[in-house]
Amino acid sequence: MNGPMIYADNAASTRLSPAAKAAMLPFLDEVCANPSAPHAMGRAAAAALANARAQMASALGCDAEEIFFNSGGTEADAQALRTAAHIGARQGKRHILSTAFEHHAVLHTLAQLQREGFDTELLPVPADGVVTAAQVASAIRPDTSLVSVMFANNEIGTVQPVAEIGAVCRAAGVLFHTDAAQAAGQLPIDVRAQQIDLLSLSAHKFHGPKGAGALYARKGLRPAPLLAGGGQECGARPGTENLPGIVGMAAALTEAAAHLDETAAALTKKRDRLIAGLAAIPQAVLNGDAGRRLPGNVNFSFAGVEGEALLLLLDARGICAAAGAACTAGSPDPSHVLLAIGRSPSLARSALRLTISAETTDAEIETILRAVRETVTQLRSAPGA
Ligand SMILES: *Cc1c(COP(=O)(O)O)cnc(C)c1O
Repeated sequence: MNGPMIYADNAASTRLSPAAKAAMLPFLDEVCANPSAPHAMGRAAAAALANARAQMASALGCDAEEIFFNSGGTEADAQALRTAAHIGARQGKRHILSTAFEHHAVLHTLAQLQREGFDTELLPVPADGVVTAAQVASAIRPDTSLVSVMFANNEIGTVQPVAEIGAVCRAAGVLFHTDAAQAAGQLPIDVRAQQIDLLSLSAHKFHGPKGAGALYARKGLRPAPLLAGGGQECGARPGTENLPGIVGMAAALTEAAAHLDETAAALTKKRDRLIAGLAAIPQAVLNGDAGRRLPGNVNFSFAGVEGEALLLLLDARGICAAAGAACTAGSPDPSHVLLAIGRSPSLARSALRLTISAETTDAEIETILRAVRETVTQLRSAPGA
């Protein structure tokens, strides 16, 4: 890599915050004990674990015993869906409602549940990328056990009316799960006010470490363990706790929650500068609603431009961006999210996702704008384009 890199792929992963790193260091070094050990160092580890749980609970508006630590968003999604599916099955309810543009951690778990005899249904996503509470209300059936709608989409950044959907579900006696992997750190979360029963988090999406996550499960909803083993996390998640990861995650979420409004305001300004600049490129189409989207998310399709080629040229100029989700990068299939909002396969293949963080500077925004403008022009004028 020649020259400085510009990182605009924060939806895929973020840089560890200095506060999270500092909080983790003692647990990567001198505090090596297992939190289950009864000796003094074990008790210190257990105290740190309890403190991290209390910090997470305070950031989400719940009680500490409603937080279950795990390895990340994928595990939290799988456990949330399986927990609710089994609770429903015990009451003879086997219908699970979700949406067509969920993360694959949700969609592929739903596909497994379907093969296991559950009746899963995916709501279509309106063209603006925002599912409505009315859609959810009219699709709930007497045998619906669970509604799972993501808090904010990871590709197009659109923010869902979570509190309204929570109210619809609560009134209907249906459990509500939301995948908040993208929302945490950028949007206010209050699981009580928003009437959320199950919520998934991933630390590395909000400047915490990779490989750490959490499931919030409302009191009374005992998460069904995915593995068998020890009694950690009240038996919901056996295995020695990832204490450095957990402590780092709690520090990152606490820090993000303390600065939520300023961060969102600063990011929104930069995001809207990017959107305005990219919208001026001929035949550029913004994917997802312009206003109801994450403060850090920009996603455009450029008609006639191959997204993969655009990414390669931007990469050569030191700009780290994405076409869509990191886990489907390199796949020839167009994004299921962009198809869900009605984009043609060719427009879906011409997408560019730029996701910024508080660390993105105004100068970097201008460099990105210039690079995308020049690269799109270059690709469109190439022979055969
Ligand atoms: C990143 C992400 C996940 C997966 O989280 P991991 O911690 O990487 O397993 C799930 N859902 C959404 C919306 C995400 O953005």
